[in-house]
Amino acid sequence: MRKNIVAGNWKMNTTVPEGVKLAQEVNEAVAAACDLKCDVVVGVPFTHLTAVKAVLEGGKVGLAAENCAVKASGAYTGEVSAAMVASTGAQYVILGHSERREYFCETNEMLKEKVDLALANGLKVIFCCGESLELREAGNYADFIATQVSESLFHLTEEQWANIVIAYEPIWAIGTGKTATSEQAQEVHAMIRALIAGKYGDKLANDTTILYGGSCKPSNAPELFAKPDIDGGLIGGASLKAADFMGIVTAF
Ligand code: PEP
Repeated sequence: MRKNIVAGNWKMNTTVPEGVKLAQEVNEAVAAACDLKCDVVVGVPFTHLTAVKAVLEGGKVGLAAENCAVKASGAYTGEVSAAMVASTGAQYVILGHSERREYFCETNEMLKEKVDLALANGLKVIFCCGESLELREAGNYADFIATQVSESLFHLTEEQWANIVIAYEPIWAIGTGKTATSEQAQEVHAMIRALIAGKYGDKLANDTTILYGGSCKPSNAPELFAKPDIDGGLIGGASLKAADFMGIVTAF
């Protein structure tokens, strides 16, 4: 059975002390919440991983990095490897976010390499995919998303898929306040699940967690999460305030 997950993506926000305070607030709220129906993860900048891990130690909140390098180690000044991320105690890494694809020219092929490095280092991958407004309006989004998923993930074994979480994030809904309707999101989630089923079979597809991301907030999360193929959210802006984030965590 697949897990429900709500994961925050803090992006390039908060100083280390601010991030530690936010992590403390989320950790305490999750500890106090009874009967949570999802796992909770916070995705934080590299600089925050060790300090936030210390805050989360022994609690129920998981920790994610927002990226890792495409190389294993060596002379790549300023890069942070999957092994380095894993050594902080983080359990997850977010890969393929549309901001990294757009501003840092990450390709499906590079992401395939990053996925392999992350899995080889024991990290679970939150793999982002999603179309631009142009593709949505042209009606080509299904093929585009299928290519993103298949080119970066379809070389993996069934065992490796146990450590893959997909996040469908339509670019036109990220940080814009314009959420995909629950029907639009459900359509793509079902399409991604069918794609996985076609390659790996129904069981693996049904066991794969598929998150929605894009202006998700406490007010729209219940409707989105009620859809059969939406297993939680990847949350940007609303993950920066513990109360808003918890409003989404408790939406299940
Ligand atoms: C994101 O960037 O992953 C995201 C979903 O952002 P927001 O929630 O702010 O739209």
